[in-house]
Amino acid sequence: MTASRDTNIIEVANLTKRYGQTNVVDDVSFGVRRGEVFGILGQNGAGKTTLVECLQGLRRATSGSVTVCGHDPLREQKRLAGRIGSQLQESALPDRLRVGEALRLFATPNALPVGDVLEQWGLSAQRKTAFANLSGGQQQRLFIALALQNKPEVVFLDELTQGLDPAARREVWELIRELRRGGTTVVLVTHFMDEAEAVCDRLAVMNAGSLVAAGSPADLIGRYSSPTEISFTVPEGIDPNGMFSTLPGLDKIAMREGRLHLSGRRSLVAHAGAALVGSGTVPDDIATHEPTLEEALLHIIGDQS
Ligand code: ADP
Repeated sequence: MTASRDTNIIEVANLTKRYGQTNVVDDVSFGVRRGEVFGILGQNGAGKTTLVECLQGLRRATSGSVTVCGHDPLREQKRLAGRIGSQLQESALPDRLRVGEALRLFATPNALPVGDVLEQWGLSAQRKTAFANLSGGQQQRLFIALALQNKPEVVFLDELTQGLDPAARREVWELIRELRRGGTTVVLVTHFMDEAEAVCDRLAVMNAGSLVAAGSPADLIGRYSSPTEISFTVPEGIDPNGMFSTLPGLDKIAMREGRLHLSGRRSLVAHAGAALVGSGTVPDDIATHEPTLEEALLHIIGDQS
């Protein structure tokens, strides 16, 4: 991935983390631009958490370099205090710690007032509630509040919406968009393709420790997924070649089992629909196939194994 140095808030160069004989992170290089939501995707065990832990200065890389806001997160941890925010893992908070106490415990002098944070994250009524007595959604909101209360420039979120119901997941996505609007850089590890597509500006795909593909969700879908397809029974009296072969975005046109199959770019569906509507005869058996990020990811990972 290339991006000019002065716009990158995170720079990773040839980063390797070795355990025993295995490079769990294997010669990974990329940059994260200031203000973007950067997603890291990959199967379990791909090395995502190890990578982001190196970015946060929580693990020492075997070789290579990382800078965050121009500093080495391991050796210059103090200079980054408050400038980076990390989502804690569940095990990091004692069961009996109350919500208000947790926020005070992790606050830097620059932190937002506890009352404001509680209100912003819908936790005011839980100020004195012990961590273990919070619902899954409330625990997750507390983790996000802890990551953000010091107004960091970069925030690291790992499996953010794990265990949340669909409505709560969408709320969290909206919060991430809000962070982006406020200029915060977000690095997000996720398993969820819908999440990656909904909130990430760019994605890096990891497989067996290596960074195997990178780009915007639309880029990855365009490069690695099968094309968009639309098929239907050709209405009587229409010459399919005459009518559809010049559609913008069309790559292939074929007749199979009485149905016309068109494939090409995503815009093809709209153009084919418009042509049919224009002809005054819209078949009622139109089927479409839209390429997905999940399909792209399976293709990317499949190509590597
Ligand atoms: P992901 O987040 O993509 O699921 P991880 O970074 O958690 O992947 O793990 C990548 C690989 O590194 C896994 O095979 C895991 O077992 C191994 N691993 C992680 N931490 C350690 C450790 N402290 N010692 C040895 N192996 C580890």
